[in-house]
Amino acid sequence: MDNIIDCHTHIQDGSFSPDRQAVIQRALDAGITHLVVNGTSPEDWDEVLDYPNQFPSVIPCIGLHPWFINEVDDNWLDLLEQKLKLSSNAQIGEIGLDQYIEDRDEDTMEGVFREQLNLAEKLGRSVSVHCLKAHGWLQSVLADQGIPSAGMMLHGFSGSAEIVKQLSSKYDNLYFSFAGNVLDTSRKKSREAIKAVPDDRLLIETDAPYMMPPDEYIIEGEDPEGNTRNEPSNLAQILPGIADILGIHQDDLAQQLYKNTKRLFPLK
Ligand SMILES: [Zn+2]
Repeated sequence: MDNIIDCHTHIQDGSFSPDRQAVIQRALDAGITHLVVNGTSPEDWDEVLDYPNQFPSVIPCIGLHPWFINEVDDNWLDLLEQKLKLSSNAQIGEIGLDQYIEDRDEDTMEGVFREQLNLAEKLGRSVSVHCLKAHGWLQSVLADQGIPSAGMMLHGFSGSAEIVKQLSSKYDNLYFSFAGNVLDTSRKKSREAIKAVPDDRLLIETDAPYMMPPDEYIIEGEDPEGNTRNEPSNLAQILPGIADILGIHQDDLAQQLYKNTKRLFPLK
C-alpha cells in the first residue's frame, strides 16, 4: 500500500522535537507519502511553514485554534493573511469551535472562526476544522456563512451518522476525517458515523501526537523517553482497520482517500 496521506497532524508539537526527522522517515517508509501539519497560533506558524523545505512530504496549514484565541495580538489576522500570501501551498487550519472548553467566550470564538472562513474564501484556500461538542453551533454558522469554495474538512470527526447525512447532503465540498480512535469497538457512534460518509467525502488522519488508536493498531506508540505518543506511521495500520469497518479492500480505500485528499490539498 502506498500513497497514504495523513490529513491532520501536529508534527511541530514539542513531543516530536527529539526525533522529528526519524518520525517523518518512519512515516515515509510505511507508505505515508504526505503529512498535513496544522499550526495552531502565531507562535508556531513560521515553523510549520518552513517544514516543506526540510521535509518535502509535509503540506502546511496555519490558523488560529479556538484554544489560543485569547493569546494573540490584535494584528493576528493580518499576519495570517500575509503569511498565507507568501505560501501558496499552505491551507488554513486548525480553526474551529469548541464547547468543551469551560471558560469560553463564544462570541470571540465564533468571530475568529468566521474571519478565517472569510480569509479562506478570499485566498482560495481550504480549511481544517476542529469541532468539539459544537456540531449544532457549527451547523448554524455554516448555514449562514457557507463553506469556502476550496473546501472544508472536519478533523477527528466526532459527530453522529445523522449529522454526517445532514451536512454531506447540504454541502458538496465538505469532508469528514476520522482518526484511529474510531477503531475502538466501544465507539459505536463514530463507527456508525464513518459508515454514513459518502465514499468521495472520507479522509483519514492520526492527529499525531494525539488520538491514539487502540493497541493492536499501534506500530510506534512512544517517544524516545518512553512517553505515550501517536505518530503518522500508525496510519499504515489504521487504514486497513477502517477498510474492515467499511467492508472494502484496503487498496481500494487507499485509492479513494488519495482522490478525496487531492481535492483539498496540493499533492505533489
Ligand atoms: Zn489538531
